[in-house]
Amino acid sequence: MPEGHTIHRLAQDYAERFQGTAPRVTSPQGKFSDAADLLNGALLTGTEAHGKHLFLRFRDTDWVHIHLGLFGKVGFGPTPAPPPTDTVRLRLANDTAYVDLRGPTTCALITDDEKRAIHDRLGPDPLRADADPGAAHRRISRSRTTIAALLMDQKIIAGVGNVYRAEVLFRHRIDPYREGRDITPAQWSAIWADLVALMREGVRNNRIDTVRPEHTPEAMGRPPRVDDHGGEVYVYRRATLPCHICGTEIRTAGLAARNLFWCPTCQQP
Ligand SMILES: [Zn+2]
Repeated sequence: MPEGHTIHRLAQDYAERFQGTAPRVTSPQGKFSDAADLLNGALLTGTEAHGKHLFLRFRDTDWVHIHLGLFGKVGFGPTPAPPPTDTVRLRLANDTAYVDLRGPTTCALITDDEKRAIHDRLGPDPLRADADPGAAHRRISRSRTTIAALLMDQKIIAGVGNVYRAEVLFRHRIDPYREGRDITPAQWSAIWADLVALMREGVRNNRIDTVRPEHTPEAMGRPPRVDDHGGEVYVYRRATLPCHICGTEIRTAGLAARNLFWCPTCQQP
């Protein structure tokens, strides 16, 4: 499942190539054909992301709502576009570029009101200018659920996935099993500010890096991480490897249906 920075990056990539143009809109797979016919040749006027939800605006108030889910993929390319395969749910194409969307959980044409309802059920997104971190803390501070589970709950905070959750808790030396109500306002402010900075960098680089300058491979004289997710991290998928700071073996356990990673020495209950 992609994390929020990927979806914000996609919003930028769609905008860069298609905003202000009137792309041909098709659904080679057929599942989005009726809506594609309505949008074909209409001006694409904006793109937006909130957490893991992507929105493409056509005309004034026609929104395509996309959620990639576990298997959704987006691929951009220059024209001429190759003949689409029948797995392409949504293709946009203009004179210079095309983009194919495959396998999303959601690809639907929605109204302004329907879009607002989606925003209303999502927590604040560190990558959005309109985000209110206090709204997240009010819910966290009343909860006996672990902070690790709360950070993955899109109703409480939108866009944080398994990697950012593990890494931000490590960076703030917080045990993942600490209860939400034991996170102080100061700790929450620091976590939020860190997520804003880390996730913005994730959008810029299109990958997740969370180690501080003194813990990069160059600074530490260690080999770079080998992982298909790329990026340098402290604990994510580093179970049994030594902590970059204290040397303790990184631990892993299942929580909220996903694997959790943490350093039992650096992170305090
Ligand atoms: Zn450690």
